[in-house]
Amino acid sequence: MAKRDYYEVLGVEKSATQDDIKKAYRKLAVKYHPDRNPGDKSAEEKFREATEAYEVLSDEKKRPIYDQYGFAGLDGMGQGGGGGYSHAFHDFSDLFGGAGGGFGDIFDSIFGGGFGGGRSSRSQGPAAGSSLRYDLNIQFKDAVYGTSATIHFKHNEACDACHGSGGAAGSSRKTCPTCGGVGQVRQGNGFFTIQQPCPTCRGKGTTIDKPCPKCRGTGIQEKSKEMSLKIPAGVDNGKRIVIRGMGDVGENGGPAGDLVVVLHVEQHPLFERDGQDLYCAVPVTMVQAALGCEITITGLDGKKITIKVPDGTANGKLLRIKGEGVPAGATGRKGDLYVKIMVQIPTKLSTKQKDLLSQYLALENPPKEPQLMKLSSLE
Ligand SMILES: [Zn+2]
Ligand SMILES: [Zn+2]
Repeated sequence: MAKRDYYEVLGVEKSATQDDIKKAYRKLAVKYHPDRNPGDKSAEEKFREATEAYEVLSDEKKRPIYDQYGFAGLDGMGQGGGGGYSHAFHDFSDLFGGAGGGFGDIFDSIFGGGFGGGRSSRSQGPAAGSSLRYDLNIQFKDAVYGTSATIHFKHNEACDACHGSGGAAGSSRKTCPTCGGVGQVRQGNGFFTIQQPCPTCRGKGTTIDKPCPKCRGTGIQEKSKEMSLKIPAGVDNGKRIVIRGMGDVGENGGPAGDLVVVLHVEQHPLFERDGQDLYCAVPVTMVQAALGCEITITGLDGKKITIKVPDGTANGKLLRIKGEGVPAGATGRKGDLYVKIMVQIPTKLSTKQKDLLSQYLALENPPKEPQLMKLSSLE
């Protein structure tokens, strides 16, 4: 089934603010909540769809990726899988909290609870670390022939003093006195119950008697990283290179997030690219085009390429030079180079040139009343 655009799903404009998005989702979630539509599969589907859209559009990292590259850009970011709803879950108390009543139990009822990767408000469960985005500019030529790059970034790792436990040496974890270890507190009356992460233990269900001084009990530390990255030949603008596990460390044994490197290919002053093929243009004189000629150009890689221009070549003719395009990468075919012939009409002629051309004109003797041609029949 084709996926609907996330903005369309939520019924908001592309320019919608976070507030608009939140309001739109809240409305849909209330309308299609399965508790209100028992046994209605289409309502459940609409609820899932809205949740997925909200999960992406409310995420300041995912929304720009979706805006630029659509669904394809989100592939491999955990979108659509069980863990992909993490952000929405995380913000749920925020979304539905307050006087309006809450839907804290929605996710348990729809997804059966206990989804591994989600940063749910459920305590103690493993939670995946955040994936990080790194934007890397590369030169046109490097995108065509491949290169390597060194990237510098920061991510969260487990604190090396406490190995991620958050406790100082000799400290111990105790069951949280506020929530009794559940990690959540319930508030509310009547129809709705608001279930929120416990404010004392922040959802963990336990508290530490002596927090680690280095990480102040968080169990994580920010680390600067340097990595060398191989860019394969033939990558295109917007290509994402996913480095598994190089994002932020997970919580409670959950997997680390990924580092997603998004490639931005710079323009070249002379060459353009369409998939595996390269394009450029070269001027020839009208006499060269009429008589045919051999010309030599310098290719993108600096190599000299000799091109045979056949006699009678029309202005704008595309000549194909086989195999001189983007090299065949792991998957792509070897591309070709297309050279557009631009026939130049001389604007300054010497007396001798004028003389010769006048003689030529006399021989050619073109009709005084040329036959009209239909514009649209021309290429
Ligand atoms: Zn620590
Ligand atoms: Zn607690």
